[in-house]
Amino acid sequence: MNAIKNIKGTHDILPDEVCKWQELEKIVRNICSQFGYHEIRTPVFEETRLFSRTVGEDTDIVSKEMYTWEDRDGKSLTLRPELTASVARSYIQHNLNVKAQVQRLYYIGALFRRERPQKGRQRQFHQFGVEAFGSNNPEQDAEIIGMAWRILSVCDLNAETTLHINSIGSQECRHKYRIALKKYLNPLKGDLSDTSKKRLETNPLRILDTKIEKEIDILKNAPNISEFYSDNDKTHFEQLKKLLKCLRIPYTINNRLVRGLDYYTNTVFEFISDKVGSQNALIGGGRYDNLVESIGGKTTPGIGFAAGMERFIIAMDKTGRIFKQPKPDVYFICLNEISIKTMISISMKIREIGFTVISDPLRRSLKSQLRDANRLEASFALILGETEIERGTLCLKNLKNGSQEEILQSEILKYFNSLGT
Ligand code: AMP
Repeated sequence: MNAIKNIKGTHDILPDEVCKWQELEKIVRNICSQFGYHEIRTPVFEETRLFSRTVGEDTDIVSKEMYTWEDRDGKSLTLRPELTASVARSYIQHNLNVKAQVQRLYYIGALFRRERPQKGRQRQFHQFGVEAFGSNNPEQDAEIIGMAWRILSVCDLNAETTLHINSIGSQECRHKYRIALKKYLNPLKGDLSDTSKKRLETNPLRILDTKIEKEIDILKNAPNISEFYSDNDKTHFEQLKKLLKCLRIPYTINNRLVRGLDYYTNTVFEFISDKVGSQNALIGGGRYDNLVESIGGKTTPGIGFAAGMERFIIAMDKTGRIFKQPKPDVYFICLNEISIKTMISISMKIREIGFTVISDPLRRSLKSQLRDANRLEASFALILGETEIERGTLCLKNLKNGSQEEILQSEILKYFNSLGT
């Protein structure tokens, strides 16, 4: 049989890499908890209509990137391509609004999109993200953007990332803007790409997302969404900008930023890195005041962001950050079959007081076990040979400075206790 390999666009995260993930997860958990956010875990698959209805039928995600299948009972199911819809579904289903008027939630998990794989773009990838339900005030937007900023700074990434913000206004504002944009682009249709021609009919705002130079040029003279803001839209955006200044978070207004998904309203934002190549959006988010209602809940405002963890790790690596690999404190070398029992029971006791202990299950020679202990960068080797068995002692070798001493087995816990964990 041919060797079985992982599926294109998915990646194994091997032990050497895992410490980076754990460090990032720890940072995320700490900061989320400093802001009073609680973790939520939802299933990796949901009913397809949850995503088609919220993310939007003519987005790339729903139209071509979802892993969807028909279950045996005929129900259409989909591996989650994003998490906001799932979190909103769970929020409604479990009446989380009753438990607290403002629900602050965060998640860390795997997502699935059938995109063309490249560096920083995978078919199974991971995001952490936050969602706050219940407030439509700009201080809530500032809290969410402030959290993203804190996480970026603790990861040493804020100097190289730019916050792009925009307001895409309320539904009425977008409705008027859509008409104006169509009116402007229709006569120039011949110069647009096929994708943009299609979007002109289905979702003209998405044309603003274009990366094609010629289209960017055409858009320079297009009407600006800010001309269509209602008074409320304007005030919300102005207040948010003031709060960001107060938090000293630098930003640029990007009126071409619309974010692809249907559920966004008013504030949208992205943190763009200038160091990680073409897949440079590290964090994307926005306000979604109509989302909860659109899937059957009571009208509830909300705002959140999602961050790509693969891209974060690429960016953190580029800063030269040293990720700490856990190293064993003690490598226990047992040289005689009859003392295995003593070794395993002492090892367990040392672990119980907080140290990492490993031992060799291959019964190799002293020399190769010491080599292994050095390879793993253990701090100490505890050696239990014939002499030590006879004397009820252990040889304690400090692998950092090479010093060696003999300690009574009954005294070994006292010794490690005195070191402190
Ligand atoms: P989105 O849910 O598309 O707004 O994406 C939010 C963040 O997730 C992006 O800014 C990226 O950092 C990350 N991301 C999105 N799609 C992928 C992908 N296919 N592979 C890796 N990261 C992704």
